[in-house]
Amino acid sequence: MSSPKPKKKNIYLEAMEVFHRAADLIDLDPRVRLELEQPDFEHIFYVTTHLQDRLQPIAQDDHAKYAKLADSDIPESMLEPLYDGCWIIKPGAMRIGSVHTENGVIRIAKKGLFKIKRGQPERIKAYRVQHNQARGPYKGGIRYHQDVSLDLFKILASEMTWKTAIANVPFGGAKGGLKLDPRLYSKEELQAITLRYMYKLKNMVGPNFDIPAPDVGTNGEVMAWMLRQYTDGEREPHKHRGVVTGKDVRIGGSEGRVKATGQGLAYCIEDWFLARGKSIKGARFIVQGFGNVGSNAAEILAKMGAKLVAVNDADGGIADPNGIDVGRLTQYVHANPKNLRRSVGGYPEAQAISKDDFWSQECEIAIPAALGKEIDGNVAERLRCQLVAEGANNPTTSDGDEVLESRKIELIPDVIGNAGGVTVSYYEWIQNKRMEHWTEQEVNQKLERAIKSNYRLIRDISNDRLERSAEYDNSSFLVGQKVPMRLAAMILALKRIEAHYRIEGFSQ
Ligand code: GLU
Repeated sequence: MSSPKPKKKNIYLEAMEVFHRAADLIDLDPRVRLELEQPDFEHIFYVTTHLQDRLQPIAQDDHAKYAKLADSDIPESMLEPLYDGCWIIKPGAMRIGSVHTENGVIRIAKKGLFKIKRGQPERIKAYRVQHNQARGPYKGGIRYHQDVSLDLFKILASEMTWKTAIANVPFGGAKGGLKLDPRLYSKEELQAITLRYMYKLKNMVGPNFDIPAPDVGTNGEVMAWMLRQYTDGEREPHKHRGVVTGKDVRIGGSEGRVKATGQGLAYCIEDWFLARGKSIKGARFIVQGFGNVGSNAAEILAKMGAKLVAVNDADGGIADPNGIDVGRLTQYVHANPKNLRRSVGGYPEAQAISKDDFWSQECEIAIPAALGKEIDGNVAERLRCQLVAEGANNPTTSDGDEVLESRKIELIPDVIGNAGGVTVSYYEWIQNKRMEHWTEQEVNQKLERAIKSNYRLIRDISNDRLERSAEYDNSSFLVGQKVPMRLAAMILALKRIEAHYRIEGFSQ
C-alpha cells in the first residue's frame, strides 16, 4: 500500500494561523471566532468583453517567406505597444495610409513583421470577497493580476478586516478583482472591462455597504471608470461619490491618497528609529517592488534622509551602495513610455543584481512592497537588515516569520505598515460625505497621528508594556506576556472587532 500523499497546505488556512493563535491567547468568544473564520460573502462571476485588433510578432523562421512584402504605413498614433511585443491597432487604423498584407501578415517600418489578429470576445473571471462588516462597510482594494484566486482574495479580504480595525477606521474588510495581466490590454480594453465589471458589481457594492479602492494593477483611473459606471443615470450622483476611494483629487479624491500607503510606512519606520533613540538619517534601505507603495515609500524615506541601496521587481534588480536617486528611478519606471514592463531592470545608473543578491544586500531596512509570500524561510536567512517593514500585503510566510524571530530581525507587520492607504481612503470617504476638501497637510497630520498611535499600541502589546494616563490607556489590550509584533497586531484587531459583538450582541 502506498503511503498517503502529504496534504498540500491550503493558503487560506495557513494565512489564518495567526488569527487562531491570537484568538486562543485572548480567549476570543467562540461565536465571534466562527463569524471571522470565513468571509461573509464570496462572489465569483464573469465579465465578457470584445478585444481590439492586435499585431502579433511572427516567428523569426517565417520572416524569409515575406521578404517581398512591402512596408505598410500606419501612423504611430494608431498603434499602442503591449509588453509582450504585440501592438494594439486602433479602430480605423487600417483604413488610413497604404496597407499591404499577405496571408494576414503585415510589415510595419522599423517595427517588423506581424500577424494581424482580429479582435475576439473574451471571458474574464471576476471576484469580490466580503469578509466582515462588524465595524462598518466592507472596504478593500481591487486587484488586476494574472495570479489571483478565490483563496487569495479570501486572505486579502480578511486582512482588510484586521487592517481597518488596527487603523481604527469604521470599516470592515473586502477584496476583489480580475484575473488578468493589465499590461496585456489596451487602455480602451481595460476601460471596457472595468465598466463591465462594475456593471455586474453594482448590486454588491455601495458607499455605505462595500467600498472598493486601488490595489495591485489598478489606480485612480480605474476608480474613475468604476465611479462613472456606478453613478451613471443617478439623479444625485454626488451622493454616491464615496462608492470608491483612491479617486483623482479633481473628482472627489483626497489629497495625499496616492502617497498614503508609502507615507504611512515611512511614519512607522521613522517611529521605529525614534523608539531606539536613533535617527533615520543615513539609514540604508532596500525595496522590493517599485509600484505605488514601493516608489512612494522610497521617495519619502529619501526625503527623510535615508538611502536607497537596492531595488528588485518581477523583471529585474539594481543596486548601488552609494545610493540610488529615487526621483530619476521613478522617472525611468513610471514616466518612460518605452518601459512597458514598468520595471527597474535595465536602469543605467545602477548595477544589475540577481534576486538572491538583492535580498542579501547589507542595509538597515528591508521593504517588501510587491506581492505576497516573498520572504520565505530561505530569504529570511539571507537578509542582512535590522528591520523588515512590510508595504505589501502578506509578504512573509510563516516559515519566514520564524526565521526573522530567531534572527532577532524586527518587524513592522503589513496590517499597520501599509494601513496608511485605507486610512486616507477613510478621510476621502468622509470628505465625500461632507462635500469637503482637506489640504494635504491636514490629511498628513491626521494620518501621522493615527498611524503612530496605533503602531505604538501594537508595540506596547508586543512588549507587554502597561501604560495608563489620561490620554493613553492600553490596559485593555495587553495579554500578560510578550508576543511577536504580528501576533500583537492581530490581538489589537480582534479585541476591537470583538467589542462590537460583545456590546451589540447577535441578532438571531
Ligand atoms: N489596497 C489597499 C490595501 O490593501 C487600500 C485599500 C483601501 O483603501 O480600501 O490596503
